[in-house]
Amino acid sequence: MKKIDQTRQWLTKNLSLLRCPKCGRAFVTVLDYSLACQQGHVWNLNKKRFCLFS
Ligand SMILES: [Zn+2]
Repeated sequence: MKKIDQTRQWLTKNLSLLRCPKCGRAFVTVLDYSLACQQGHVWNLNKKRFCLFS
């Protein structure tokens, strides 16, 4: 399993624990390798600047 897939699996399990770094709202879905929040901000997991806890 690729690291990105492990990350994605973890995110799917823990989605409710995370908040969008931009607007602070909860994420609603995992789209392929991206997360989308309630405001429609999309965070690509492949980008190094993506930070789960910022
Ligand atoms: Zn947002």
